[in-house]
Amino acid sequence: MEYRLTDFLPTTKKELELRGWDEVDVILFSADAYVDHPSFGAAVIGRTLEAAGFRVAIVPQPDWHGDFRDFKKLGRPRLFFGISPGCMDSMVNKYTANRRLRSEDAYSPDGRHDLRPEYPTIVYSKILRQLYPDVPIVLGGIEASLRRLTHYDYWQDRLRPCILCDAPADLLIYGMGEKPIVELARRLSDALSTPHASDGSPIGIPHASDSSPIATTPASDGSSIATTPASDGSPIGTIRDIPQTVYLTSSITPTTDDIVLHSHEECLKSKRSQAENFRHIEEQSNMMHAHRLLQPFAPAATKTPREAAVPVAPPAATKTPREAAVPVAPPAATKTPGEAAVPSVSTLGPSVVVNPPYPPMTTAEIDASFDLPYTRLPHPKYKGKRIPAYEMIKHSINIHRGCFGGCAFCTISAHQGKFITCRSKESILREVRQVVQMDDFKGYISDLGGPSANMYGMHGHNINICEKCKRPSCIHPQICPNLDTDHSKLLDIYHAVDALPEVKKSFIGSGVRYDLLLYHSKDEHANRAAQEYTRELITRHVSGRLKVAPEHTSDHVLNLMRKPSFQQFYDFKRQFDRICREEGLRQQIIPYFISSHPGCTEADMAELAIITKRLDFQLEQVQDFTPTPMTVSTETWYSGYNPYTLEPVQSAKSQREKLAQRQYFFWYKPEERRNIEQSLRRIGRADLISELCPQNNTHNTHQAHSSYNPHANPRTEPRRQESEKGQRRRRRRHP
Ligand code: SF4
Repeated sequence: MEYRLTDFLPTTKKELELRGWDEVDVILFSADAYVDHPSFGAAVIGRTLEAAGFRVAIVPQPDWHGDFRDFKKLGRPRLFFGISPGCMDSMVNKYTANRRLRSEDAYSPDGRHDLRPEYPTIVYSKILRQLYPDVPIVLGGIEASLRRLTHYDYWQDRLRPCILCDAPADLLIYGMGEKPIVELARRLSDALSTPHASDGSPIGIPHASDSSPIATTPASDGSSIATTPASDGSPIGTIRDIPQTVYLTSSITPTTDDIVLHSHEECLKSKRSQAENFRHIEEQSNMMHAHRLLQPFAPAATKTPREAAVPVAPPAATKTPREAAVPVAPPAATKTPGEAAVPSVSTLGPSVVVNPPYPPMTTAEIDASFDLPYTRLPHPKYKGKRIPAYEMIKHSINIHRGCFGGCAFCTISAHQGKFITCRSKESILREVRQVVQMDDFKGYISDLGGPSANMYGMHGHNINICEKCKRPSCIHPQICPNLDTDHSKLLDIYHAVDALPEVKKSFIGSGVRYDLLLYHSKDEHANRAAQEYTRELITRHVSGRLKVAPEHTSDHVLNLMRKPSFQQFYDFKRQFDRICREEGLRQQIIPYFISSHPGCTEADMAELAIITKRLDFQLEQVQDFTPTPMTVSTETWYSGYNPYTLEPVQSAKSQREKLAQRQYFFWYKPEERRNIEQSLRRIGRADLISELCPQNNTHNTHQAHSSYNPHANPRTEPRRQESEKGQRRRRRRHP
């Protein structure tokens, strides 16, 4: 299908002129290439605002060097600048678990990784604040969303405060941004058309009664460069009640409903405080009716908003871990997190305020988002260039949002929450019909999935119970008896897609939760549907290799990961093998594993090697744990405490310790043998040497390889943001 330039959101002055526009309402700066597809965040936000009646332009991957002409070329927007740093955290996108540069940037043309800075959220907002001190700046995307409160930054090896303390922006939107961004644009637009009072304040804009926009430079940890608060005189400084937004305030009096977290400075002093905070952050990210979170921080200096329009300096972000030595500031608040504010609690000083999220979208709302007039193509400016992430997802369909798995290393729940929002069958089929029209479509849908493949249509039987539920996972440690695990609706979607004459086969590339398939509920209909689903998955939707993610073999590590016991993998493999036998299929299970997860020791890895060897696997899909922002695993790894029990947890931290664990994946490689033997002797398991490293190792090592490719399939990444597999799955679901 042929598209005109005007079918895309405009990216240049010329494209604005083609539309006859001399001004736009919102300009989005994106650190990803502009791909007009519902898997790419800037496109989703742009199209959503457009559908709400606003004029939107996108500047993808602006050059942040030199005279900042990319930041000036479209002038100033009527309402605000939006910064969409990309579908992945910039540091996860750029560096491996070993802090090495990745081979390519999956979201850039031809995989180039010189087209985005580290921490674009900070870099772009500083430039814009310098150039346009009075225009509001709004942050969104994964990077801002997952750095909304004090978090551990693995690449700088330190705690960082809420990203608003480093990025001079006015407001941060976390999670899926469609609803808050439209509400914000409407409020700002209404304010501009509202008469002003004699003191200059807009009439009709609610003023926050308990907070005021901050005009300070937070101390954070001594490395933050001047932060700017709200732009002078903009009504955005008074908009404090939109759900799913985050802002800084100079003072606030907690209500009885608020949760006051340990201050940033307390967390710098005490790792246990950081661990305690995280439990509340995770719980509130997943509740249907969450509380507001307040986190005090200590400001270092006070500036007016205009003073705070600082010259653009190299961001703190570019410091090396050594340079980023953290001075400890005095604590700003001493309340126990979780203690609701009581009348005796005085007003807090400078604080980060995280408003509770919007309720999960309805099917009509999510349909409306996916049904926006995307071209589903990269902007024509990328003609002839390969955008790796797009190549991976262009023939795939995302059928739902949210995940109730609660895997400890995954960020989905912090971003999308645990409640599943499903697209209707009609909306899914509309998108499939668009895909089958694509010139290069050969009859194969590469994935019909979501954050997890088989949670479509699942929810609590009794929603009243779910409304009060604080569990981060509906399926760990056991499957909740209130969870409806019926796979029938999902089967119905598969059947409807496969019935289209243009579709030869639809694959399921997203991760399948086999614990849901093995679960025996009281509902016999659901049990039959699970059996039917398992057989259909294996016989019709697998391309010869079914990838599943047991992640480990040791139950105590799996428990920390919030994954099911390895016994369930055995059970599932038995079913898989039986069905393949019955159907005359030669298919394989490919299991994914993680080393160096918190709680995992060399002895656990030795056990993993023995168990998987006995199962006749030579592992391919393996990953060293990467502590990415805002996961339970990351905070456990950093703090040394389980945030829920506050029990100590040991982790492999040094490169040497991590490599000592990782080598066990490759027991079959002759070059690993000596080190593994030494390791087994050191940990007192010399008894395993003869089994793991027999003298006449007859395994066919020419087949053995780590085929793990960081950019192999960006579409299938729900769970493990720490892993590259995880990054890939998230891309399409995290606008
Ligand atoms: S299904 Fe169970 S665990 Fe999940 S939200 Fe409802 S009550 Fe909580």
